[in-house]
Amino acid sequence: MQNIGDKFLKHKLDNEINDIYTEIENAQMRKANLLLDMGIMTYEKIRKSIIIDDSFDNICDEILEIDKLIYNNNLKIKSLEESSKELVCECGNVLNLENNFCPSCGKKIEVEEEYLIECTRCNALNEDDSIYCGCCGAKL
Ligand SMILES: [Zn+2]
Ligand SMILES: [Zn+2]
Repeated sequence: MQNIGDKFLKHKLDNEINDIYTEIENAQMRKANLLLDMGIMTYEKIRKSIIIDDSFDNICDEILEIDKLIYNNNLKIKSLEESSKELVCECGNVLNLENNFCPSCGKKIEVEEEYLIECTRCNALNEDDSIYCGCCGAKL
């Protein structure tokens, strides 16, 4: 039969073990964050050719693919949002996309065409006044 003293001791030990587990978890989390920081710093240095080591190539290629996916999805959102926007004439009249002239004031409707330049590194399309690629960060 267990006496109360034993139960108390067991409870105290369980608490102590839990505290140690928590400390280990916190340490692992801090380590993971530091490794993440180190990864970001390393990636920057690889891109600037400060670190030249082709054993990183596969990881870098994967990161580039992920960057492209994020970039292209952001572009998709942007164009979806723009296509839902109303076209409004200077006179305040709301236009249909197929109108060439404003039915209210007769003004010719010019839809601005955006010129895009392609990144030589990742082939993402960027606005023509961009200096760096919005997708991969390469100089355009
Ligand atoms: Zn008008
Ligand atoms: Zn790029």
